[in-house]
Amino acid sequence: MARAGCLAGLVMAAACAAASLQAESIGSAATSVGSNASGNFMWALPSQAGDVSAWPDLLGPDLLGPHLVEPVLFGKRKRRKAAICDDLDIQGEAVGVVPGKLNGCGATDAVRVRAVSGVTLSQQSVMTCETAQALKHWVEKGVQPAFRKDVVGLRVAAHYSCRTRNNRPGAKISEHGRGKAIDISGFILKNGDVITVLEGWKSRKTHKQLEKAWKAACGPFGTVLGPRSDRYHQDHFHLDTARHRGGPYCR
Ligand SMILES: [Zn+2]
Repeated sequence: MARAGCLAGLVMAAACAAASLQAESIGSAATSVGSNASGNFMWALPSQAGDVSAWPDLLGPDLLGPHLVEPVLFGKRKRRKAAICDDLDIQGEAVGVVPGKLNGCGATDAVRVRAVSGVTLSQQSVMTCETAQALKHWVEKGVQPAFRKDVVGLRVAAHYSCRTRNNRPGAKISEHGRGKAIDISGFILKNGDVITVLEGWKSRKTHKQLEKAWKAACGPFGTVLGPRSDRYHQDHFHLDTARHRGGPYCR
């Protein structure tokens, strides 16, 4: 991953190392740190490094060494660091390139989302920024109104996964394989209750709320599938940002 110009000077080396790291895939990012060609970026001292605040956000604390960790982690900077997709309401971390093991899988500029608009995902989920933004939009304008602003978490059943549609051999690559889809199987409320799609859809008490949330996803997302669509979607909402010529496909 060495880049031209990455061998000039300590600070440059550190910046380049971080830039290379950013471009690495999820799996190999951690291992590439130790084996970087320049090898000496860990030695940069504050006096040599100049203005730390001017360094790119890409530099993680473990790359900076003990002297430089403190100023980076304090204050607004920390909050901004956790913001992704140029949006303070989308929290997580940048992932970069996700290589696909099947033809048609993978994503560029992917992110790993931890929370949107204060609503935590039950598992950190890899997706594109376009999908993260759709999710945020849906949570704010669809999910919270449907559940009287009581939702604090989303139960994520699936996010990025390189596979065919409904896991059927020979079928087209799923939007999950492109970082454009997320499956939501439940809504976690302030009081600790979890409204699941599987049970809640059949319950007289919660069906209306779930239906409202499901309907509101149609638009921010190009494809929305729920219990009404087919047997594969009895226990979750499938939401993806694939766009269709005839408008959103919602069942
Ligand atoms: Zn799905």
